[in-house]
Parts: sequence; structure tokens; C-alpha cells
Amino acid sequence: MIQTQNPATGVVERHFIPLTPDQVLGALDRADAAQRIHKTTSLAQRGACLTRMASLLIAQRDHYAALITREMGKPLSQAKAEVEKCATACTYYATHGEALLAPRRESHAVIQYDPLGLILGVMPWNFPFWQVIRCAAPVLMAGNGFLLKHASNVPQCALALQDLFAAADFIPNLFQTLLVEKDRVATIIADDRVRGATLTGSEGAGASLARLAGAALKPTVLELGGSDPFIIMPSADLDNAAEAAVQARMMNTGQSCIAAKRFLIHHDVYDGVVQRILAHVDALTIGDPLDARYDLGPLATQGIRAGLAQDVKDTLAAGAKALRMGGPMDGLGFFYTPTVLADIPPDAPAARKELFGPVVSLYRVTTQQDALALANSTPYGLGASVWTQDPVEKKAFADGLEAGSITINGVVRSDPALPFGGMKASGYGRELGSEGIRTFTNMKTLRGLS
Ligand code: NAP
Repeated sequence: MIQTQNPATGVVERHFIPLTPDQVLGALDRADAAQRIHKTTSLAQRGACLTRMASLLIAQRDHYAALITREMGKPLSQAKAEVEKCATACTYYATHGEALLAPRRESHAVIQYDPLGLILGVMPWNFPFWQVIRCAAPVLMAGNGFLLKHASNVPQCALALQDLFAAADFIPNLFQTLLVEKDRVATIIADDRVRGATLTGSEGAGASLARLAGAALKPTVLELGGSDPFIIMPSADLDNAAEAAVQARMMNTGQSCIAAKRFLIHHDVYDGVVQRILAHVDALTIGDPLDARYDLGPLATQGIRAGLAQDVKDTLAAGAKALRMGGPMDGLGFFYTPTVLADIPPDAPAARKELFGPVVSLYRVTTQQDALALANSTPYGLGASVWTQDPVEKKAFADGLEAGSITINGVVRSDPALPFGGMKASGYGRELGSEGIRTFTNMKTLRGLS
């Protein structure tokens, strides 16, 4: 079902009919024709389009932010920040794309970065603009075309993005939104003109896409879930760490891949840190995401809320303790009040799975080695945040943590200039930075040119 269901009210506001197979083929024909022209344009021309995109995003920030909030429920101020971050990424690639893709001399050869063709992006709803822009901007800068299969609950964001790329003067039809359901992804990947695919989403979706692309020998990037550790050692600034912990967990109402999800606190400071965390959690407000008074909005769908409630119930049944017992709120919409869990057994869902919502999972650790082992004990490896002033501990965590991105004394964030991605069940490949823009290129080795 492709539809806008406002998570704050539960009301289905718009419904969309998926494209027919013939309509998808027509879209691929047009995208392919557009990409053949686009790949002959200069990097300066492509950069100019990205610069226009950045201006359009800023000029229409409030409009796009309202659309994001209406479709997936994040607080409006966070939706505005998301749109601004998209503009930053466009500007980054407009400014640096030419240098990042410049042919380079190595030994007796020249290495040149040629486009591949059409790239399919299968994207999630939690950052409905940012996830798309962060992969599509470099993909287009590198001379490819982009086909977007967005999550079924954010179709108006998906269509707005298509209009935005057109308004920025990219070749018409180079970026196309395909309003299709997930079972249509197989035929799109199998099409010869599609030369690669990137998916941001759950492990199941990633594994399915990787199987399909592997069968067709096409490269993939997978940006999947995470259960990021947030480690607090005795030398940390405990006030800052506790405040940052709650921010990191509650951003986007807890629905972020790189949200800190497990809090590993050294036993010497455990009680004090937990008191601070509880005070910050108790101060959170929840309500209408369009109203600036509230820190948390609803969860994006009824299914996500039901899944989270079940995981919390099963974690408690396994023996965990609730220091704060939240849950689904009565009334309209998909609101879920914050929950804090402690004494979580190793096999409970909170310890093994990614909990996508405002649930804080607390763990007591006794040594640095203990913290490292627990941090690495999930199937995931996306981000990690470590709070310590001790240089030996900093190095030990930096070397030992199994994660794509580690931040010491700060919250894990993505940055257009830095590679972003995970390991283990969090996926493979990198977006952003120089790695991101070269991912979907043919690195052509040229000998004997001159
Ligand atoms: P999801 O159910 O996997 O959906 C993501 C996208 O994949 C949607 O477009 C979905 O389409 C599509 N999809 C689902 N199953 C598919 C399949 N078998 N074949 C092809 N496409 C399929 O994930 P979600 O619940 O929307 O998003 C939350 C997940 O994304 C979390 O695990 C989160 O951590 C992860 N995430 C990761 C990152 C990162 O950068 N690592 C960033 C953000 C989110 P439909 O909507 O039509 O089902």
C-alpha cells in the first residue's frame, strides 16, 4: 500500500496507485536516454545543478520539512535540520566533486572514474530526504542516472524529490521516482540498464537486494540497521555524557540507524549516570510534531509501534527491569512514550536486536575489556560512541570496536565529507566523502595515453 498516513493522527491522507510494469519500463527507457546525455556533460555543469538544488532546498525548507513531518512524524525542527543537511551535501559535492573524480596518475597509467549507468536506490522513511540526497547527489555528479524506490509510507516526499532534481535543471528524467511496491524491485534490478543498487533499510531487505543484484552481477551498497553502543567510562565528563546519551537515543523519536541504542556504563559511575539519564528522559515532552514545544513525535507507523511494544514486553519477560515504563499512548496516532530498561539478559531482544523507538537500554560494565566485548556482542557494526578522557582507553576502543564509525566524547553523526557505512549485519560499502562518489563508477585503468 503506497500511501500517506499521518502518524500523528492515523488518518490516511493520500493513496497512490503503483506504476504498472509498462510504466516502469517506460521510466527506465527515459532515464536511460537521459543518462546517455548526462554522462557527456562536464563536472562543472553537474556541479551547477547541485548548487541550484542546495538553493532550492534552503528556499523551500519549510515546505519540505512540513511534508516530511506529515508523512513520517518527526518533530518539525528536526525535519528542517534534515533539509538543511541535504543542502550541505549538495554544496559539498558541487564544490569538491570535480576534484574527487579527477583522473589520477598512478605508476605508468591514468585512472579515470567513468559513470556506470542507472543506479537503483531503495530507501527508508526515517530520513526521507537525507537518505536519498546523500546517495543520489554523488551518483548524479559522477554521471549516472538515479531510480528511486522509496519507502511506501513517504510517497509525497519521493515525488517532491523528483520535482526538486528537475527544478535544479538536471536532464529531464535523469532522476525518477518509481512508485512501486517492494516485490517489483527484482525486475528493476534485472534490467540491463540498471548497473548498480544501493539500499538503506533493514537486514532482510538488504539481504534480499544483495541476492538479486548478486545473481545479476551488479554492485551494491547496503546501509542497514545498527545497535550502537554508547560507552561511559569513569574519567568521562558525566554530565555531558548523560545529556548526549539521551539526545543520541531520542533523535528522530529513536528511529535512527546511528542512534545510540545500548548504554554501557562503568560500574564506578553507573548509579550517578543512570540518575542523570533518567532526569533527562523524564524531562522529555511528547506530542504533535508540528508543535515546537515537543521533543518527541509519534513513531512512523502502527506496525513499528506494535513491533517495539512486543520487543520491550519480551525483554521484560526475559528478566529485564523497567526503570521507566512507557509504551503506546492512548488516543490518535502512533505515539510511544519513553522507556528505560536495565538488567537486560544477553538473549533478550533489547540485547540482540535493533529497537527502533524511544527505548534506552542500560548495561553495567566492570572493565574496559568487558565494555568492548559487550559492545561487539551484537550482529551489528554501524557506529559507536565512547566517553573517556583516558588516552589508553581511547586507543583501545578505537582499535577494538567493530563499527564503521567511532566518535570519542561525541555523538555519532554522518558528515558529507566523511565516508559513512557499517560492517557485519549493518551492511557494506560506503556513502559520502570521496569513497561515496567513486562507489558507482568504473575505475578505468588507461595505459599508453601519453
Ligand atoms: P525496510 O523495511 O527494510 O525498508 C527500507 C526500504 O526497503 C523500503 O523502501 C522498503 O520498501 C524496501 N524493502 C523492504 N523489503 C524489501 C525487499 N525484500 N526487497 C526490496 N526492497 C525492500 O526498513 P525500514 O523499516 O523502512 O527502515 C528502518 C531500517 O533502516 C532500520 O533497520 C534502520 O536502522 C535502517 N537504516 C539504516 C541506515 C544506515 O545508513 N545504515 C539509515 C537509515 C535507516 P517498502 O516500504 O515498500 O516496504
